[in-house]
Amino acid sequence: MKINYNQLSVLSPEDKRRVLCRREGHQNIEFGFEHPYKINSDFLKFNLIYECDREIEVSYWQMLPLINKSFPIEEADYIIYGHFYARFHNFQDEVKRQIEELAKLRKPEAKIIVVGKACNVMPHLDPNLEDILFFESHYAEKLGEYFNVPMKEEYFVFDNDKDWLNIWPVDGCLRKCGFCRRSYMHIPFESLPLEYIKDMLDWYKENNPWMLNHIMLRAENLTEYGIDIYSRQALPELIKLLDSYTEINAISIMIGLAICEINDEILDALCSSKKMYNVYTNIETGSNRLLELIGKGHTKERAIEVFRRLRESNPNILLHTNVMLGLPTETIADIVELADLVNQIEPNSLYVLKYRQDPLQPLAIYPYMSDEIWAYHLKSFLRFVRQGKRNIPLRIDTIKVPQLKNRKYNREMAIVQKEREYHYEDRDLWQKILLPRNK
Ligand code: SF4
Repeated sequence: MKINYNQLSVLSPEDKRRVLCRREGHQNIEFGFEHPYKINSDFLKFNLIYECDREIEVSYWQMLPLINKSFPIEEADYIIYGHFYARFHNFQDEVKRQIEELAKLRKPEAKIIVVGKACNVMPHLDPNLEDILFFESHYAEKLGEYFNVPMKEEYFVFDNDKDWLNIWPVDGCLRKCGFCRRSYMHIPFESLPLEYIKDMLDWYKENNPWMLNHIMLRAENLTEYGIDIYSRQALPELIKLLDSYTEINAISIMIGLAICEINDEILDALCSSKKMYNVYTNIETGSNRLLELIGKGHTKERAIEVFRRLRESNPNILLHTNVMLGLPTETIADIVELADLVNQIEPNSLYVLKYRQDPLQPLAIYPYMSDEIWAYHLKSFLRFVRQGKRNIPLRIDTIKVPQLKNRKYNREMAIVQKEREYHYEDRDLWQKILLPRNK
């Protein structure tokens, strides 16, 4: 089956992953791209199935003309290697092992080109490795130049599945929260200029105005947008720019609002916009003692103020937050405070995660909590949240929490999860506000 690039570009991020990885029925697609190079990109493809959407949409998808055909490692002149390197877990050892293994399997003088986050492994590799290149940022475009194949990274990508326009205005984060991969992993920080964003929005307005209906702003740290190019946090200007388009009816921020960096100007801008729809900002934990220990940078009082003002300024807004259980030195008193905070800020949904420790994190000086105490904290937390009084139905998602062996605790979770259905009533309300699609 032959499919052209434009047909493929309307796929959802999940389907793009399948195509890139040649999985689940996508093995027989012929893309019709030709180039003279013998390239192997098998490891890149296997590893990117767990990469974040940004990498898939901004860079990997644009590399399709180069990586659609893969030669066996022993025959290839070039091996393109990529890995997400660290998400909840640090894969540094695995990345090192894979690259050093590839170096043994390749034919003499074949080049290994390491792209993206996997470049973090550079100082840990065997220093005698030869014929190895590292393209850390803008790697799709650098590969394009290297092989003379036109490839351009895209920071505006419409998601056909979700019906929203993804925009990645900034990459990277300058903070180093003690529990985050940021504390040991480098990702170059770079914002898109406001003029570029405006030009792109104007293009959509002119050519596909229906795609502007719902904007999804995405970034690891959106609150730091603009610091590198304007020496200030320019998120308020970005929100005002988006607000100025009548074609834009809803703005969602699924990731990237650090409460400690939501200054009054940013908070005013978020509250003044009447287009804010889904907004995520993570409290992580509930006591000022633990917030300081993990280096999150905000206080619970500020978290309460941020949620209160967002809710008061826009009653239709949907607010979401993450919490981590099992943090170092966490006690049952911290759990009580956390449950109280959740009931006070009243998010529409709550993601419960288990803290995972990595030896490279600053928090690794503390002992890791046993599974038994963690399960006790989880059970207590869910009970305290359930017992609290709230005006807004709460959806609790424990997908990211590993299943407990003790079935009693799982029942505990199921009871709280029953409340999640209410969430969708709010969503229906927004569907009425969002304009119908008109392609
Ligand atoms: S602000 Fe977010 S991305 Fe940045 S270090 Fe903290 S948790 Fe990590």
